[in-house]
Order: sequence, then C-alpha cells, then structure tokens
Amino acid sequence: MNDNDNRNIRDDGDAVNELTPIIDYEDLSHVVLSPEEQAYEAMIRQRIRERRRAAERKRIKRNRTVALILVMVIVLIVCRSCYASHRKKRDEKKANTEVSAVEKNTSSKKEETDSGAEVPAKTAESKPEEPAHKIREVDGLTFVDDILIVNKTYSVPDDYAPGINSAAQAAFDEMMNDALNDGVYLYVNSGYRSYDEQYNLYYNYAYDRGVAEADKYSSRPGHSEHQAGLCFDVNSTENSFAGTTEAKWLAAHCSDYGFIIRFPKGKEKYTGYEYEPWHIRFVGIELAKELTSKNLCLEEYLGLTSDYTLAKEPVSQEKMAEQLGVTVGDPNEVDETAETDSGSYDNGGYYDNGGNYDNGGNYDNGGYYDNGGYYDNGYGY
Ligand SMILES: [Zn+2]
Repeated sequence: MNDNDNRNIRDDGDAVNELTPIIDYEDLSHVVLSPEEQAYEAMIRQRIRERRRAAERKRIKRNRTVALILVMVIVLIVCRSCYASHRKKRDEKKANTEVSAVEKNTSSKKEETDSGAEVPAKTAESKPEEPAHKIREVDGLTFVDDILIVNKTYSVPDDYAPGINSAAQAAFDEMMNDALNDGVYLYVNSGYRSYDEQYNLYYNYAYDRGVAEADKYSSRPGHSEHQAGLCFDVNSTENSFAGTTEAKWLAAHCSDYGFIIRFPKGKEKYTGYEYEPWHIRFVGIELAKELTSKNLCLEEYLGLTSDYTLAKEPVSQEKMAEQLGVTVGDPNEVDETAETDSGSYDNGGYYDNGGNYDNGGNYDNGGYYDNGGYYDNGYGY
C-alpha cells in the first residue's frame, strides 16, 4: 500500500511534471496581464466607455435641438394662426364700428387723443395687410389707427371742448424756438376754437360768399380740427403766406416736431379743402415724417373720405344754407346775374339781407381769442 501510495505520489509527481507546459502557459498568460498591461487595458476600456458616453451625450443633445426646433415651429404656427384670427376679429369689429357701435370709454378716449405718435409702429408691424385700418368710435369721436380724425366726413360732438392739446402745444413751442434760432418768426394765429367760435367763423364766410365757397376753406361747426385742439394756424391765413420764408421753413421742418401741413397743395380731392400752408396738424413725429416723406395727406394714408354728404348725418350745401339762412352760391354773384338778366341796377331785394346777419350776438366773440399770450386775431380756417 505504501509503495502504491508512493508510486501514486510519484505518479502524481510525474503527472504534474507532464502538465507543466500547461501550467507554464497559464503562468505566461498571467504574466501577459502585468499591472502595466492591466492598467493599459483598463485605460482602453475607460476610453471606450468615455467615447460611448460622449456619443450618447451627442445623441441626447441632437435630440434636444431637434425637439427645441420642433417646439419653436409649433409655437410659430400657433402664433400665426392666433394673429390671423385676431386680425379677422379686429376687421369684423371694425366693420361693426363703422356701421353703428359707439363705445362708452372716456378714459381710453383721453389716452388716444394724446398718443398720435405710437401709431406708425403698429402699422409697420402689419405692413403686408396694410389697407385694413382700425376705425373706432368713442363718445362721438372717430379714431383711425388711434389718430383722432376730424374732417368733412367725421365730426366731433358740439360740446367737445378739450382745449389745446398739451403735447401739440409743447411741440409748437419747441418748433417756434428753433425757428427763431434760424431767424424765422413763427406765431400762433389761431389754435383751439370752441364749437361756437367755429360756428361764427363759418357763418361769417358763408354769409359773405355763400356755403359752396365757404366749404372750400372753412370748416362747418363740429368739423374743425381746431375744436379738437390738435392744430394751429401759423402766422398769416392769407394766400400770400405761401412762398414766404416762414411758410418754407414750416413746410421743411414741421414734421420734425410732429406736425403735418394738413391741407397740402394738390391734395384737395382727398382733404376736401384748398391748400393751406399755415394750417398744421399734430400727429406725432413718426407719422408726420412718414406722411411728409411719402407726400401723402392723412386721408390718402388712412384711406378715408372727407365729404359732408358721406357724414353720419349728411348735410348738403342747400340744407346748410337753409339752416344758416344764407345762400349756397356767392350772394353778390346772384345779384349781378339778376342785374344782367333784368338789365336793371335794382338788386335791392338780394343785397339787403341784414336780418340774416344777426345771429343773436353769437358773432361777437369778444374780438380776440386769448390762448395764453399768443397773438390770435380769432380768424383762420
Ligand atoms: Zn386752421
């Protein structure tokens, strides 16, 4: 047994010896994975992991960017459709307003009156579909793109008496000072006028020359920008003012202060009035510059009419003459025609209309209109 055991051990020993190469091989492989090599392998594995992570991060980043763009596109589409429906509603509202609606909002009225300058920005934003101008009626006042409109079509209530607009007055004062520095003397001939003052002024012209002639240069009561306190007649209201140094300076510079020559030469068919180089209207600097540079009058720019027969309560010249007790045509011309036709100089009946001239003391407005130190002879158009 012992022998056997020994043999067995020897055999085992032999067996071990025989297997040595295998053990060597294993040892060799163990040697290959030396600490440096293990470290190297670990480094490689680390790099691979890092690359995978980097690729993953890149993929996430790309997906995020795509998602962001997608969200932006969706937002843009939603905004566009919102804006389109908003425009549609606005246009519908505008149509309603034009027909009848009268909003009761006194506070917004005051705001709108003072903020003529803000308008062009809004208009520029919606340039592609520009023709649609927003018309609103607030307490009998008509605002188009937030600009108060007073002309032959659009009137202001009889009792509307805001006085001169403070922004317009400040702008005029600044302009007057700058003109003086250029050696040009500008002054207010006529600024704010009440309904009654305009009534008397218009009546006087209509009485002297007839309604048809008066309508060419004088506003009927309730239809004057002077009642809105947004305009000035500068220096002389005689046609001789045209071409003077003062008129030229005014035309060249008034837009820098927010004013426009309201009734420009050649725009009579739009404004409804003959050329008035002295009548400036405050609309804010931005709009004033745009209108002046484009050579557009307010009616052209806003697509509006200026015609008494298109007013909410149209009044023909015949009806106006009847209301005032004056003639439509030139009263003197009527006389001359009668004279020629009859071959006599007897025009007594026509010429003497003294009774009509007396309108109960209204004509006397105290001689001069005091607007705080400015020379104002109470005349103007
Ligand atoms: Zn005027």
